[in-house]
Amino acid sequence: MTEWPHIVVAGGSIGGLTAALLLRDLGCEVDVFERSSEALQSRGAGIVVLPMTERYFVQQSRTGERVSLTLTYWSYVDAEGNLLSADPDSFRFSSWNTVYRGLLDCLDPDRYHLNEEMVGFDRNADGVTVRMASGREIEADLLVCADGTSSTARRLLLPDIQPVYAGYVAWRGTVPERQLSPTTRADLVDSMLYQVLVGGHILTYAIAGQDGAVEPGDRLINFVWYRNYPEGEDFDSVMTDVHGERRPMTVPPGMVRREHLDELRRATRALAPTMTEVVNESSDVFVQAIFDLESPRLVFGRVLLMGDAAFTARPHVAAGTAKASADAWALHDALRSTHGGIDAALATWEPGQLALGRAVVDRSRRMGQSSQFEGTMVPGDPAWKFGLYEPGN
Ligand SMILES: Cc1cc2nc3c(=O)[nH]c(=O)nc-3n(C[C@H](O)[C@H](O)[C@H](O)COP(=O)(O)OP(=O)(O)OC[C@H]3O[C@@H](n4cnc5c(N)ncnc54)[C@H](O)[C@@H]3O)c2cc1C
Repeated sequence: MTEWPHIVVAGGSIGGLTAALLLRDLGCEVDVFERSSEALQSRGAGIVVLPMTERYFVQQSRTGERVSLTLTYWSYVDAEGNLLSADPDSFRFSSWNTVYRGLLDCLDPDRYHLNEEMVGFDRNADGVTVRMASGREIEADLLVCADGTSSTARRLLLPDIQPVYAGYVAWRGTVPERQLSPTTRADLVDSMLYQVLVGGHILTYAIAGQDGAVEPGDRLINFVWYRNYPEGEDFDSVMTDVHGERRPMTVPPGMVRREHLDELRRATRALAPTMTEVVNESSDVFVQAIFDLESPRLVFGRVLLMGDAAFTARPHVAAGTAKASADAWALHDALRSTHGGIDAALATWEPGQLALGRAVVDRSRRMGQSSQFEGTMVPGDPAWKFGLYEPGN
């Protein structure tokens, strides 16, 4: 009879939760340890739902929850708001919260341990002892590290591998669709709207409302505006919050300094009227610095890195959640095919996930360089379609 392993997952975001659910469904005993003291909230505003992002809901979830809305045009406008191209193509969008909550609801709450920060582990030939900041120690057959771009596990295993700042940040925010003018609502009712700028670009699109609402009028409109801040004084300034704290990756809503918010509003004069209104009406504006991160290895005995902890791609491919889910599904498939044999499963899992991570990081880096620094982003270019494996897929 197959004996399924006991697995500890460090990091209870979308990657960690997807892995935990899939491995639990296989028969493993799985516990998730999440550093945050309360359930995660509104991490990233809108997310693009690629097939891999929602594969768990489609194939496994008993709730059959609907996590996304569909937009049917991929459009570009110029600074006056004239339509430059409108490609009929459907993509699905949700909010980070909706996907996270949907996954969390599928997990036994007793298996989701909040306020538990993994601080270290001791590896041996057939297992691992995982140490938490609380003093708790857990014996497991496998430790899955889904602890994000600033991963503690990666820092311990690969101390020389650091996220590399890409030279620009994403300004982001959302506004209730109902709050916008009829013209702007009409522009965004079924379109993903892009504007190519000098040294950057902006996109706006509808996402699910906070309560998961996907009907026009009840949704949120989300913007993502990529703007260059050279490393050094400019970058340090925008990443310093209202309390004077230099944030490493994200300045959350309510923490962005007034001078930067004012500068953002002034810069809207380069934007199309629709974009200008969305930016100016958004009250929860935040800043997310863009990084590249590539790990040369993912498996270290009975410890593995997955999701953003392993590879963090720029958001242009919109594949962060899909890549994390793909890592989780591949682990599920590998463990199933070895009937729970961990070492054999990890030997087949690692090469494929290394190749996928490298490809996603490379494609998103080329897109970012093109739009932010080379001025070669062309409205309507099909290479700009979202996708995990290739544009559009
Ligand atoms: C601020 C922010 C905004 C984002 N916006 C988007 C978006 O709009 N669209 C999109 O597709 N993707 C977005 N992402 C990325 C997306 O959320 C990730 O690609 C996706 O969640 C998969 O990442 P992950 O689960 O591997 O890591 P993350 O989502 O980064 O989660 C890592 C988790 O590990 C926890 N953690 C960290 N260290 C420890 C530790 N030592 N012990 C225990 N727990 C730990 C963290 O609290 C966190 O919950 C965003 C991420 C962040 C952080």
